[in-house]
Amino acid sequence: MNATPDPETPVDAAFLRRWLDTATSAVDREAAMLTELDSPIGDADHGTNMRRGFLAARTAVEQEPPQTPGGVLVLVGRTLISTVGGASGPLYGTLLRRAGKNLGEEQAVSAARLRDALRAGVDGVATLGGAVPDDKTMLDALLPALDALTAALDAGGSAADAFAAAAAAAEDGARATIPLRARKGRASYLGERSIGHQDPGATSSALLMAALADTAKEAV
Ligand code: ADP
Ligand code: MG
Repeated sequence: MNATPDPETPVDAAFLRRWLDTATSAVDREAAMLTELDSPIGDADHGTNMRRGFLAARTAVEQEPPQTPGGVLVLVGRTLISTVGGASGPLYGTLLRRAGKNLGEEQAVSAARLRDALRAGVDGVATLGGAVPDDKTMLDALLPALDALTAALDAGGSAADAFAAAAAAAEDGARATIPLRARKGRASYLGERSIGHQDPGATSSALLMAALADTAKEAV
């Protein structure tokens, strides 16, 4: 059913719908792990929040599939904002809605164009949440992922290799939150006691980037 993707502009609505399917499966599979991470430094709901939000987003996209990549991201973002109670809902919702709006009405875009849109979305997360690098938040996975994506694309790598590099950087970034002291969100209430635990939001960001890498590997 899927048309062969153009290697120059591999990111179309079908690509992002496949990303959403892969991401939703990953979040569903790893929900218990995400909630476990949110137990010692949070309120043990991150997996539940993400699962509820992504299942609702997948249903919304299945019911009325948007025809543009921007449309898919806006609908996922809007659904996360309306279905996830925790801090992560508005933050991820802002990221994806902002990225989708940045893509506008384009039918298919390059990996570099998606990277620019994601950068705009991540800037929105930073503005909304007020976090900076090393505050032990999702930004500690998202920012290194964007940097790795940029470096790989600038070096002339394929979209698939660039998204794989981004996913690896996100995972490294999530792991690197372990020794950090949280300065934003619920975990910050624990002060020094937040040290020694991996941030749940950085971990879910790594899952979402891994889903993007998996999607790109299959598509291009
Ligand atoms: P809540 O903290 O409301 O229970 P979740 O458990 O779903 O929400 O999400 C917690 C995650 O949200 C944290 O692990 C962190 O990565 C992210 N987060 C919280 N506050 C911020 C913020 N101000 N900026 C960026 N990310 C944040
Ligand atoms: Mg929580």
